[in-house]
Amino acid sequence: MKVAALAGGVGGAKLVDGLAQALSADDLTVVVNTGDDFTHYGLQICPDLDTVCYALAGLANPETGWGRAGESWNVLENLAQLGGPDWFRLGDRDLATHLERTRRLAAGDRLSRITADFCAAWGIGCKVLPMSDDPVPTIVCTEEGELSFQEYFVARKCEPRITGFRFEGAAKARPAAGLLEALAQAEAIVLCPSNPWVSIDPILNVPGVWDALLGRVVIAVSPIIAGQAVKGPAAKMYRELGIQPTAYAVAKHYRGLMSGFVLDTLDTDLTSDMAWPYRVTDTIMNDRGDRLRLAEVVLEFAAGLRGSGDH
Ligand code: GDP
Repeated sequence: MKVAALAGGVGGAKLVDGLAQALSADDLTVVVNTGDDFTHYGLQICPDLDTVCYALAGLANPETGWGRAGESWNVLENLAQLGGPDWFRLGDRDLATHLERTRRLAAGDRLSRITADFCAAWGIGCKVLPMSDDPVPTIVCTEEGELSFQEYFVARKCEPRITGFRFEGAAKARPAAGLLEALAQAEAIVLCPSNPWVSIDPILNVPGVWDALLGRVVIAVSPIIAGQAVKGPAAKMYRELGIQPTAYAVAKHYRGLMSGFVLDTLDTDLTSDMAWPYRVTDTIMNDRGDRLRLAEVVLEFAAGLRGSGDH
């Protein structure tokens, strides 16, 4: 089955790794959020793209879910000693990615081309696409004013209260080359268990993406389990926007788009409210085996929905 997966960073990367284990490389395209991208020390940093690629390449740090395994921090420590900012953690190995990407962007290459070449170098078989080659920075609107995403997420540790989000430049952004074709060819589209507000919504706001998903088999996997995010501010964001953070709220978030929803066994009590086809299963991915098992549930669910025409 040909699958396209929409993903952010840590949560998305785990399911993407499961899908890559379950599918042949030709059958999987991953579309990654670039709303978190930013420039730091003059380097172009793409946190979600790198998290997804490191996970697929088996290079990810298993403890954090982001960054590289076996990382060292010589450059950052020496920068800090000189008074340079060290709030964004950049390891030595990781820095090679940002240096080479920045060099190639400055030479006129597109992010999607650079990503494809990095994937080849890292031995990644499936296709990984940034959502756009154009910048679409996520702006977090808070009670303290607007903040860039990394300012909010890393520097301010998600403390300011949220009032909304803006995806700057989204209206004029073009989807990365091959993205709409991959969505059109996909027999199932997976919205990974990523933050709906700041990981999946930016992708859905790239012109053409939402329309490409209408009437298709779209399976969303909840990042909210028992009212909480496994990691990160998703539940806090729902609360501050006046919505009770539940898997049900995530399902409603994707209404109009989604044909099937996967929620955790801890949320079985919510199924009576589900107005969509659903699957209940263990969705916490602690190891690679969990990732594969969840991916297999998602694929089997999608195949069933395709067969029934119930989407
Ligand atoms: P970020 O850009 O690094 O924040 O990455 P994502 O948006 O992809 O991931 C954050 C979301 O992933 C959070 O809302 C978490 O609840 C969710 N998440 C992380 N690990 C898991 C997991 O093992 N299972 C599920 N269902 N969700 C997860």
